[in-house]
Amino acid sequence: MGLLRNSLCAMALFAASAGNAATLLEPTLHLKPHDVEGGGGRVALTLDACGGTTDTRILSALVDNRIPATIFVTGIWLKRNAEAVEIMRAHPDLFELENHGGRHVPAVDTPRKIFGIRSAGSPDAVQAEVESGAAALAGAGGPAAKWFRGATAEYSPSAIAMIRRLGFKIAGFSVNGDGGSLLGAKETARRIGAAKDGDVIIAHINQPTHAAGEGVVQGLLALKQKGMTFVRLDDAEGVGNDGTTD
Ligand SMILES: [Zn+2]
Repeated sequence: MGLLRNSLCAMALFAASAGNAATLLEPTLHLKPHDVEGGGGRVALTLDACGGTTDTRILSALVDNRIPATIFVTGIWLKRNAEAVEIMRAHPDLFELENHGGRHVPAVDTPRKIFGIRSAGSPDAVQAEVESGAAALAGAGGPAAKWFRGATAEYSPSAIAMIRRLGFKIAGFSVNGDGGSLLGAKETARRIGAAKDGDVIIAHINQPTHAAGEGVVQGLLALKQKGMTFVRLDDAEGVGNDGTTD
């Protein structure tokens, strides 16, 4: 995602200048400023489980170092990763599970492709993606989802309004930690390790063969070393733009 962001911006500008009204938004999310004892700052770690399997390097590091995280899971991932779900459910103090959609289809209500993934394509299909993701989570036990993050984290403005009407806040981010899990370990560690007070980090927990996962762990340990406090989205007030949280 971030790896492609510069070219995406160029494409978006091109589309805008070509008079294409189908704007896509990539909303940001920050934590509301808050005094932290000790002054080390707070960040929220959000990890997407789009499909595929589980990066146990990251999962083990979170458990071993007691780092809380918000995990955005799809219905597809939930079905195939029962063991990881069980570990997360066994640590409710660490893991908050939220809605990443039923089938990992971008929440864009016009037909198009985003990073090669076909969008939901209609308002009904966006609604089905959001509701099936919530239903899958409910079926896996645990509290009801309150946050939604669509596949690719890009939305059409009308889809954002609909998701809010369905009762979910939309989870943007402020630090793209792993560039869609495509970055190398060193760059991933650098980005995550540079997170500042109030940042919301996005990375992936479903690509165990990618080098980025090693960097996620290194970056998190560096933040912890600096005295940064980790919070889940439920534990802090998140402030998003583009009407995603208000
Ligand atoms: Zn995803």
